[in-house]
Amino acid sequence: MRSRNFKIRIFLGIAIVAFAYLRKCSQQEENPYTGRTQTITLSPEQEIAIGLQSAPQMAQQHGGLHPNNNYQAFVDQVGNKLVNNSVAQQTPYKYDFHLLADDKTINAFALPGGQVFITYALFSKLENEDQLAGVLGHEIGHVLGKHSNERISEANFWKTVTMGASVGADMGEFVNGIGQTTLLSNGRDDELESDDLGVKFMIKAGYNPEEMIGVMEILKQAAGPNRVPEFQSTHPDPENRIEKIQKSIEKYKNQ
Ligand SMILES: [Zn+2]
Repeated sequence: MRSRNFKIRIFLGIAIVAFAYLRKCSQQEENPYTGRTQTITLSPEQEIAIGLQSAPQMAQQHGGLHPNNNYQAFVDQVGNKLVNNSVAQQTPYKYDFHLLADDKTINAFALPGGQVFITYALFSKLENEDQLAGVLGHEIGHVLGKHSNERISEANFWKTVTMGASVGADMGEFVNGIGQTTLLSNGRDDELESDDLGVKFMIKAGYNPEEMIGVMEILKQAAGPNRVPEFQSTHPDPENRIEKIQKSIEKYKNQ
């Protein structure tokens, strides 16, 4: 009896995993802006809606928008210059660039669909317009690279697989481990892809791409209580990142 029960559980487990895998395969699509094949479940309209919905809350968590209208206009101007001179312009996304009042947390982030944020803490550390373009270009890279979409879609896949494995052979934790590692390494790849796209957008808009390395140096120095959640948490070490940025500069410089 026990053994028959076990066999049924194994069968169910395999069926659930197989179903999840097939569904994942059917959700693979090539990103038209990067050429990379990804698991995508949200439409651009859904991405835009999620971004617009979460934007006010994200802003609030960082003290709201910065009151200086000149600074806001400057961030907008640099962001739009990057969009208008690159493939970002051809996407259905609605780009919006916001300077947040937070003067403690050195951070910048993007929500799916085009809402981009930089904190005053990071903004005030930047030495020139090119470095601001580097930060915003990196964030536009996350939007156009559909990284949130991919992470949400992958998470759903791993949830289904974990469920299947638990039903099958109480291996849930093991499979869960794989899932988390995969999610984290995707995160690191996202950052590298965004650095690469950021360099490309900088060059297209006439900015000095070497200043992306300047941004990395600033982030490297920003240790201690000034954590950099978006820029550093899931990252490969900064030296490795700088090396890759240098390669991107070489790659796009003569295009
Ligand atoms: Zn990033």
